[in-house]
Amino acid sequence: MVEELGIEDLLRKVEVGELKLHELDKVLGDSNKATEVRRRFLERRFNVKLTGIGSTVIDFNTVVGRNIENTIGAAQIPMGIAGPLLVRGDYANGLYYVPLATTEGALVASVNRGAKLITESGGARSKVINDGMTRAPVLTVPSVVDAVELVNWVNEHFQEIKSVAESTSRHAKLLSIQPFIVGNNVWLRFKFTTGDAMGMNMVTIAVDRAVKYITTNFPKARLVALSGNMCVDKKANAVNFLLGRGKTVVSEAVIKREVLEKMGVTAEDVVEVNNRKNLLGSALAHAYGFNAHFANIIAAIFIATGQDVAQVVESSMGISWMEALENGDLYASVTLPSLEVGTVGGGTGLPTQREALQLLGVYGSGNPPGTNAIKFAEIVGAAVLAGEVNLVLALARDELARAHEMLGRGRAR
Ligand code: NAP
Repeated sequence: MVEELGIEDLLRKVEVGELKLHELDKVLGDSNKATEVRRRFLERRFNVKLTGIGSTVIDFNTVVGRNIENTIGAAQIPMGIAGPLLVRGDYANGLYYVPLATTEGALVASVNRGAKLITESGGARSKVINDGMTRAPVLTVPSVVDAVELVNWVNEHFQEIKSVAESTSRHAKLLSIQPFIVGNNVWLRFKFTTGDAMGMNMVTIAVDRAVKYITTNFPKARLVALSGNMCVDKKANAVNFLLGRGKTVVSEAVIKREVLEKMGVTAEDVVEVNNRKNLLGSALAHAYGFNAHFANIIAAIFIATGQDVAQVVESSMGISWMEALENGDLYASVTLPSLEVGTVGGGTGLPTQREALQLLGVYGSGNPPGTNAIKFAEIVGAAVLAGEVNLVLALARDELARAHEMLGRGRAR
């Protein structure tokens, strides 16, 4: 607690404009105290009580300057678990309880029931088929002739550019630089593996160094912006959908006929919903998600495990593909081309987020580095599959509205 006298002095200085709210951390040398003073300032100014926002396990001295600025407390979101979910990946192998942080009633129940159907049928097979974080600066040159020359120069000097970029990190490994030309503009889409980190900071730092090397040695090129929007970060887009970004994950399962029968549906019923809703409906809408609700599961896992929540935009793009097999079983799969996840860095080290990752056995560095993030992506893919199978099945049973009335309006108890 900040001593009363100290607080009053500080509050007065803030109120008369002698001290800015964001300067408190430096003045006090303690972000926990600064957090309290800012909260007290707001309470007095707006005559509200912020005791809920002030109740948290976070030590602000460990997050200010790393995850956030100008702190006043924390937002708390309920967390539930879905599982056991049997995952058979290259790294994830066994039964998992998936943490989901959400305020959407019925979501955890939905993933939980999907997990049961998948687990009873032998589990989900998950595979990361492409891995690489990207950053695409935009450069400009005098003419298209120079643009082609720049691209050729970059190709010829790939090894030098690679060693300059990789000198900034122990984990960033440059895989490729894909060029795109429009008029006298050149986008260079750098792609790196980033160990267990989601990699956005790591790659940005590496590309900054690489671009300085390029413009020094190819002076006709001028950097316009280190991010030229062909990366693509936090925007729905076709590039990531096709070329991938972060992890490209496929998760699939064969749901047994007997399991479907117990639910009162056939594989054909479920496939019809997937085809007419997820594929045809999304085509008609020109949507980037040919799926029912990947974003629900991705957002809830991202919040629970400290991922960059704004990346839900492209991480939840993807396709659900389902087939009725001759024996009456259902083949179901989800493909997520651009799942951006990490088990180190970003928000993964915060207290509750770290625990959620530990629950899945993926917190921190993998051995070898990179394997924890792949394992995590395999589990996320399987959880998305569970949510998807359940919702499509629920629609085939025409039970969507009923489930939400029960679980979203507090009528289940
Ligand atoms: P980061 O925390 O910036 O970097 C990861 C750090 O962990 C590096 O210092 C790395 O060391 C270290 N590390 C230790 N063990 C590792 C392992 N096994 N694998 C990989 N790294 C390991 O995290 P980031 O993933 O690069 O960036 C995530 C953050 O970027 C998030 O907070 C996100 O919100 C933010 N973000 C930034 C931008 C941007 O443009 N800068 C854009 C979007 C989001 P080495 O460096 O020595 O390898």
